Amino acid sequence: MYEGIVQDLIDELGKLPGIGPKSAQRIAFHLLDAEEESARRLAEVLMKVKETARFCEVCGNVSAEDLCRICADPRRTDEVICVVEESKDIVAIERIREFKGRYHVLGGAIDPIGGVGPNDLRISELMRRLASNETQEIILALDPNIEGEATSAYLSRMLAPMELTVTRLASGLPVGGDLDYADEMTLGRAFLGRRAV
Ligand SMILES: [Zn+2]
Repeated sequence: MYEGIVQDLIDELGKLPGIGPKSAQRIAFHLLDAEEESARRLAEVLMKVKETARFCEVCGNVSAEDLCRICADPRRTDEVICVVEESKDIVAIERIREFKGRYHVLGGAIDPIGGVGPNDLRISELMRRLASNETQEIILALDPNIEGEATSAYLSRMLAPMELTVTRLASGLPVGGDLDYADEMTLGRAFLGRRAV
């Protein structure tokens, strides 16, 4: 334990995902040593992100405007919508440069143990979107774990009565992890090899 505010900083950093006690300590001491100006910039960005960052009205992606860059891009097609759990999955799929459609962010996955049901996700928003545009294919690109599987199965059932091709990423993604853990080549192959459900 350190004294006062330094320990407070370590405690706060330690609450962040993926930051263990050792990393929290290392980051805290890095900040203590850093120039005041760079610490101030970090603090300002933290405040600003809470005040100004928002979510795209259409797809739920993090966005600086009402519409995210992808939804606002006229070169992209509404014919294919790729359904993902989180905005970070969009970043992973964009990195493979294969997809020219739009996205839909669910905001998580069905997780009965964690208390997340279908109504907690942006599924009704997806259904509304499908009612009003020319989408022909839905790609389910959920995490290759139990929650992602449950969510894919649920969505497949919901989408079955609609006149749509529903596809899923091919197997080969590292099982149990997050979609964005996969390297670009593996994710690219899974994307191109997607199959109808
Ligand atoms: Zn969007």
